[in-house]
Amino acid sequence: MAADGSNMTHAVIETAVKERNRLHTGRSRITALVVLGFLGAIGLFLALVVGKADANTAPTCDGRTMTRHSECRIWSNHGGGGTYSYDEMIDRRESSHQVWRVVGFGGAALAVVLMAVSATKLDPKRPWGKPVDASCPRCHQPTLREKLTVHSISKGRTTYRYSGIVTLCTPVCGFTSVRQRQR
Ligand SMILES: [Zn+2]
Repeated sequence: MAADGSNMTHAVIETAVKERNRLHTGRSRITALVVLGFLGAIGLFLALVVGKADANTAPTCDGRTMTRHSECRIWSNHGGGGTYSYDEMIDRRESSHQVWRVVGFGGAALAVVLMAVSATKLDPKRPWGKPVDASCPRCHQPTLREKLTVHSISKGRTTYRYSGIVTLCTPVCGFTSVRQRQR
């Protein structure tokens, strides 16, 4: 760490500048909304397609469609085994459909909540970081803002994390600095 300390200082500042850029162009927000929208769609798919209530279709037993009077023998090492009638097999199927509906609608609802949160949190109009109570040493304006920033690098299976509190002035001024968090 000591040998490449100044490189890492630079990398942490770069990370902060990129993060501010992604926030201000709205790219962070779009990415978050797209990912969450996709997860929400998966939730709806599970709830509406995989978990669709279907009390009238004949159940299957080991891949074969059952008839009204057939029975299904289920072997199980961890409970739930036994012999089931046609109607009992429908109940089994419908209770697993219900689990998918709960999981699917729950996941979709969570995705919607997180979309609302990220739409506000990642609003491009929101400034990056917190204001600093000092004026910029370069342009002498009170425009400095700071934020704890983590830069991580993966080498093989190990991830190295370098963090520091980065202070940035406006992109026009371009002043940057980084300091270590108090331990
Ligand atoms: Zn400045």
